[in-house]
Amino acid sequence: MNDNVFALPVTKLKGIGAVRAAAYSRLGVRTVGDLLFDFPRAYENRGNIELLSEITDPDAKHAVILTVATSPKVVRLRSRRMTFLKFKAYDDSGFAEITFFNQDFLRDKFPLGSTFRFYGKVEKAGNHYVMSSPAFEPWYEDRPLRDLLPVYRLTDGVSQKQISDSVAAAQALCGYEIPDFMPNEIRIANGLCTLNFAIKNIHCPESFKNLAAAKKRLIFDEFFNFALGISITRKRRVKSGAPACVNGSTADLEALLPYALTGAQRRAVNDIASDMAKNSPMSRIIVGDVGCGKTVCAAAAMFIAVRSGRQAALMAPTEILARQHYCDLEPLFSRLGISCELLVGATTPAKKKKIYDALSSGELDTVIGTQALLSEGVSFASPGLVVTDEQHRFGVAQRAALAGKSGHAHTLVMSATPIPRSLALALYGDLDMTVIDEMPPGRQRVDTFAVDGSYRERLDAFIKKNVTSGGQVYIVCPAVEERESEAGEVELAELSENGIIADQAPPLKAAVAYAAEIAEKFPEFTSAFVHGKMKSREKDDVMKRFAAGKVQILVSTTVIEVGVNVPDACLMIVENAERFGLSQLHQLRGRVGRGNRKSYCILVYGGEHLEDCPQNAKERLSTMKNTYDGFAIAEKDLTMRGPGDFLRGEDDTIRQHGGVKFRLADLCDDAGLLKAAFAEAGRLIEADPELRDHPVLAERVASMFTLDADSIN
Ligand code: ADP
Ligand code: MG
Repeated sequence: MNDNVFALPVTKLKGIGAVRAAAYSRLGVRTVGDLLFDFPRAYENRGNIELLSEITDPDAKHAVILTVATSPKVVRLRSRRMTFLKFKAYDDSGFAEITFFNQDFLRDKFPLGSTFRFYGKVEKAGNHYVMSSPAFEPWYEDRPLRDLLPVYRLTDGVSQKQISDSVAAAQALCGYEIPDFMPNEIRIANGLCTLNFAIKNIHCPESFKNLAAAKKRLIFDEFFNFALGISITRKRRVKSGAPACVNGSTADLEALLPYALTGAQRRAVNDIASDMAKNSPMSRIIVGDVGCGKTVCAAAAMFIAVRSGRQAALMAPTEILARQHYCDLEPLFSRLGISCELLVGATTPAKKKKIYDALSSGELDTVIGTQALLSEGVSFASPGLVVTDEQHRFGVAQRAALAGKSGHAHTLVMSATPIPRSLALALYGDLDMTVIDEMPPGRQRVDTFAVDGSYRERLDAFIKKNVTSGGQVYIVCPAVEERESEAGEVELAELSENGIIADQAPPLKAAVAYAAEIAEKFPEFTSAFVHGKMKSREKDDVMKRFAAGKVQILVSTTVIEVGVNVPDACLMIVENAERFGLSQLHQLRGRVGRGNRKSYCILVYGGEHLEDCPQNAKERLSTMKNTYDGFAIAEKDLTMRGPGDFLRGEDDTIRQHGGVKFRLADLCDDAGLLKAAFAEAGRLIEADPELRDHPVLAERVASMFTLDADSIN
């Protein structure tokens, strides 16, 4: 067989000309290979033959075997341009009238006495049955039909039958022997069928058993190719080198902290120090629940870089967050003789210019900022480390841009989104992971309650009580209009896509009115309102006043969600809590309980009675009441929402990583295969880093995966 048959355009196949090829390309199918890997989205089970009289469900499709009893007649409707083809057919239990619309050309297909398997809806009409435009296949006693028929995604100009025919033509072109990409030993060791068998049975399964075997193989393939892509990239990155930062002691920094590191923080810092001491680039992610103290780990990494004669950058997704990091770290660094600047969109041009110059001359040690760090003017004299905070908010492209700027620097990613284990490998398979699973001592549990509108008065009294005793209050309400306006709003948009937010989600107006109402209700306190439509200056200003204790009640949309730290905040009220997803509620709850005050999170159901809350939302609220562990909540969120919706990036890249899309694989169900595939890929790459002995596989991986070292991180 021609090695390159997969790369041939579909027009090489019988029955596909320019017009149909154009239709196929709308399905993303351009080559013979695309066609073979364009798997059915479902299957019809036509193997379950019923008698007409047994059929009770008129909404489901059924398979019946009927013999033609009357010659087909064409009935014309003069009023409209419409024809009916009608005939009767029977089985042992009764007869059905079969109708096709505007398809008189079928007239000769149904000779008297011939038998067919019909598949479609069956309705009872008096003493007989009716089927409209059923699928049909001639049936012969000695020639069994297939039970499972593929259902493909379609577009205008391509029918199910055409795709089936084209797939068959593609298999014929390959001589019915599709070569296997996978080394035989690996295939056998993992109990997988051949690619040829898999392709054949995914399109045209002979049985459920064969279909299951085909799926297992193809899912493994997806993971395996993905894992290979990651492993190759990783190997190349290791080879590309990085400045060894051997001054790994962080004692001077730690001496200035008002606390001792937790055991988990200590582990993270040790991991970082030993990564950075190597002359291959670190690529590590630190995952830990909100408030576990990731910032100081980032500071330690930056400190190591600078003490080793290098520069370090920290990028945060929002200005508020960048400023907070700056306010936390700059005083610390300054006491250590390390220079630090803040670079955000709002930085004046003159100041920006100064920072650019200081970075490129090497005079400036560290810089903290937002996407502004990606601006053209930014270049480092001696890059050592790039840290990105809350990285899932950054698109793959942005991370790549920053990595590009910093050359072969070490990279550290911090994520407050606890990642279910099954997802971690797929999302961050290219990163080493440190999990911070321990909270700083004295951290209290934020007592959580779910209430409904009938609690309003008690709630108001509770706000009053907390503020009077010196505490601060967050009130969060959803406002869908802000969907695309702010990084922090992404999850909200995501929720609406999942149907969690109903169409009637309150617009910004409602949030504004609500804020006014709060101000009126508590004239003795200072309240403020912050939302994503505000200029970042204004937003920052409000946040700053809240953080400084000048504002006691902060009404906001979800912009405060990201790691903002206000120690006196002790009450988090989430209005219309039923509209928020679990992980988001957990993030919000993490805003309080950061100081010494006993803290509470009150989830207010928007409806009258909590009992009427939709089941799904009820389950989320009760999970929040009973669970405090971010990882457990993430697992629950995953099972409730499914992996596809778990972490949608701005650019919809959830199931994509460096350009890879899983077509069949379900990260939740197939976690075992994912692990096995990673193990096999790791071994293979260890032995043959560039897949020189497996050129077909290498090509396959390269075609699935943009093998560009910088695009991954
Ligand atoms: P996150 O992991 O959410 O980014 P932060 O780094 O913002 O958490 O830390 C949250 C708070 O905990 C900060 O006020 C920080 O000073 C404090 N903190 C961090 N580590 C410790 C520790 N080991 N002991 C006590 N407090 C700590
Ligand atoms: Mg943080």
